[in-house]
Amino acid sequence: MRSEFLPFSRPSISEEDISAVGEVLRSGWITTGPKAAEFEHTFCEYVGCRSAIALASATAGMHLVLKGLGIGPGDEVITPSMTWVSTINLIVLAGATPIFADIDRDTLMISPGSVEESLSPRTRLIVPVHFAGAAADMAALRKIAVRSGVALVEDAAHALGTHYSGEHVGRGGTSIFSFHPIKNITTGEGGMFCSDDRELVDRISRLKFHGLGVDAYDRHTQGRSPQAEVLEPGYKYNMTDMSAVLGLRQIARIDGFIKKREALAVRYRELLSEMDEIMPLSVPSDTTRHAWHLFIVRLDIDRTGLGRDDFMGELKERNIGTGLHFRAVHLQRYYKESMGTHRGMLPITEWNSDRICSLPLFPDMTFEDVDDVVEAIKEVLSK
Ligand SMILES: *Cc1c(COP(=O)(O)O)cnc(C)c1O
Repeated sequence: MRSEFLPFSRPSISEEDISAVGEVLRSGWITTGPKAAEFEHTFCEYVGCRSAIALASATAGMHLVLKGLGIGPGDEVITPSMTWVSTINLIVLAGATPIFADIDRDTLMISPGSVEESLSPRTRLIVPVHFAGAAADMAALRKIAVRSGVALVEDAAHALGTHYSGEHVGRGGTSIFSFHPIKNITTGEGGMFCSDDRELVDRISRLKFHGLGVDAYDRHTQGRSPQAEVLEPGYKYNMTDMSAVLGLRQIARIDGFIKKREALAVRYRELLSEMDEIMPLSVPSDTTRHAWHLFIVRLDIDRTGLGRDDFMGELKERNIGTGLHFRAVHLQRYYKESMGTHRGMLPITEWNSDRICSLPLFPDMTFEDVDDVVEAIKEVLSK
């Protein structure tokens, strides 16, 4: 057994990253400023998107998008229940109604057929998730969105560096990335809103900072009146330069991070291929580059007679950390009580929600760490 605990994720922070943050701290300008602007620019170049706005989190980005699109009471938003709770929470907080679409059993991507069935005259927006670092079926989803006149916003929190049909996720349309410490690059906390919709970009750059239309840095450097006026009431969701400088340093290394993640994933797949009780996700054929944000497997609970939560507990006892991405939102207490959602509504989501588990995967992991994880799984299953 391992003597040292292996977490399921750990950010790759170099001494140079730490120095760069130190330099910002010493510079006299620590909030939104030149580093945030440079990070936005570099991000656009990497992803190929037209505009990017650095924010305090991806959750902030989703809040701003819902506001920017004017989504509120009476509106419906189609999303998977197999997603992070932030999306659903914000839809509800906006006064709108989340409509849960089911997913593909082996990729966890929202199923275009289920989206189609969830459409109604009240549908305003569809929010697919690019799950685990693979890409959702965008061709089908874009077709549905265009035909029904509904907006499409991609949750790309897992997908920095993912290619869909040869193109970077986020290059066209509107998408939101996250830089939470477990994501492929981190800024401590942070997010990026990307869009080629000029009107929405303008609205969101206004809403992200009090609705002033300028941020603190603009006011400081460009001699604009410090008494800038409110154009509409906005929020306080700007990214600080302390965070942005970390993002700049991290995005320069993203391709190396992904390469390492991929090599680790290949080893997992090889070693796990002999274990019938463990079923990794499959990779959609139009994912031309997988960013390997997560390595998710499903435990065959019927065959093993062992529940997933107990499986995670057994691994923890053997010093192996795991994650759960995600527990289906429609089965969580608030949603069951307030919306009457229940088991049986989304069979494929529920099947996965009971069985999924994310194994350790991060760039500083070694191949021996992967071997340790697989050994521990074997031991747990042979008990
Ligand atoms: C992490 C995550 C988010 C939220 O990102 P934050 O930056 O933590 O707000 C949203 N959606 C998915 C799928 C995520 O994994």
